[in-house]
Amino acid sequence: MSDNISSVKNCTGCSACSSVCPRHCITMREDRLGFEYPVVDESACVSCGLCLKTCPVAGSPDLAYPMNAYAARSIDDRDYLTSSSGGAASVLSRHMIKSGGVVYGCASDGTDVRHVRVDRLDDLPRLKGSKYVQSSLSGVFDPLKQDLKDGRDVLFIGTPCQVAAVRRYAGKLSDKLYLVDLICHGVPSRKMLKEHVACVSGGRPVDKMSFRNGNRFELTLASAGEVLYRADNDRDMYYNVFLRGLSYRDGCYRCLFARPERGSDITIGDFWGIDTKSHPLPFDCDSGLSVMLPVTGKGKRLVEMISCDMKIEGRSIEEAVNGNSQLRKPTRNTFRGRLLRYLYAHGLSFDAAVRISLFDKKLRDIYRKIIGRR
Ligand SMILES: Cc1cc2nc3c(=O)[nH]c(=O)nc-3n(C[C@H](O)[C@H](O)[C@H](O)COP(=O)(O)OP(=O)(O)OC[C@H]3O[C@@H](n4cnc5c(N)ncnc54)[C@H](O)[C@@H]3O)c2cc1C
Repeated sequence: MSDNISSVKNCTGCSACSSVCPRHCITMREDRLGFEYPVVDESACVSCGLCLKTCPVAGSPDLAYPMNAYAARSIDDRDYLTSSSGGAASVLSRHMIKSGGVVYGCASDGTDVRHVRVDRLDDLPRLKGSKYVQSSLSGVFDPLKQDLKDGRDVLFIGTPCQVAAVRRYAGKLSDKLYLVDLICHGVPSRKMLKEHVACVSGGRPVDKMSFRNGNRFELTLASAGEVLYRADNDRDMYYNVFLRGLSYRDGCYRCLFARPERGSDITIGDFWGIDTKSHPLPFDCDSGLSVMLPVTGKGKRLVEMISCDMKIEGRSIEEAVNGNSQLRKPTRNTFRGRLLRYLYAHGLSFDAAVRISLFDKKLRDIYRKIIGRR
């Protein structure tokens, strides 16, 4: 273990250290790529070690192999069609609020993406949809701990590293805490997203962003109900490098949580690679399908709780793990990704850095189109 939080390898930028510090001497500062890292004011630090105790990647994480695997989708068509995968996150959230609990999840306000607290059903749509960027947890840890102290059930949904941070932060108060982690292949910074959005929207203010249209990956930006920009993952520069795994935080390429063993009560994600030809599903899933992997007794109870609102089919854990590389290993840190991040860190705009790092790929696409036309 390192003696100072600033020297922890693989920092995930969760900001739990900064929230837990009793002397308020840890500040999160952005690096040149826009990722936040803790900086300690050594003159105020009393070496109490709370920051290291709370850090999700200092020491080895507590992980366990899933108990079961399920393919699922919401039975409510409107809910289903507005969710990223099969709507597992929104069904879980609805149940939690209906039974008097609170939910912490990721919302976007324009291009500002952060975790918020929701305790009313009317506010749940704010959490819907994947926002493919690192969400800020600043301001979330204290109210979450207070909810647990007040004896409320709390559902937290986030990336595996965020879930690990919340788990450590809650410590002994974890009885009423339900943790759901998303299968995650890595996160770009909010700075990258903001710059890209400003570039493709021509600087016009954006009040709504969406990253998915069912199974289709597409970035849509809107202002006052008018669509300003829409492009699929092939055409959109931000999406292109996100799905190729080039624009992530450094630690994502060494992620401790990209493996079959999980640190949550339930892992959810897309059920990529499901073999519906040999083993058909008894329901349609053309607009996306959730995978649910309960890991603990609490996780199993959550699945039972939502089974009346979801079409659910038991599948093998191996099928889920084999179809989703993020359940096996972290994304590879390639030369192309390192080039992109180097160029961006050294002064190029995000879009210019993307264009240069994908130059040969784009040339090849143009060449293929020309050959195809003949
Ligand atoms: C950065 C990122 C990478 C992902 N990579 C993969 C992958 O490789 N393989 C895979 O199978 N699935 C991946 N997912 C998960 C997938 O995209 C869906 O989010 C997940 O299946 C939930 O869909 P749903 O229909 O159940 O949820 P919905 O009902 O659409 O709700 C989405 C939920 O995700 C949470 N959320 C949204 N954006 C973020 C964010 N930036 N950070 C933390 N929480 C967020 C919201 O709080 C909400 O609870 C990724 C998600 C993110 C955010």
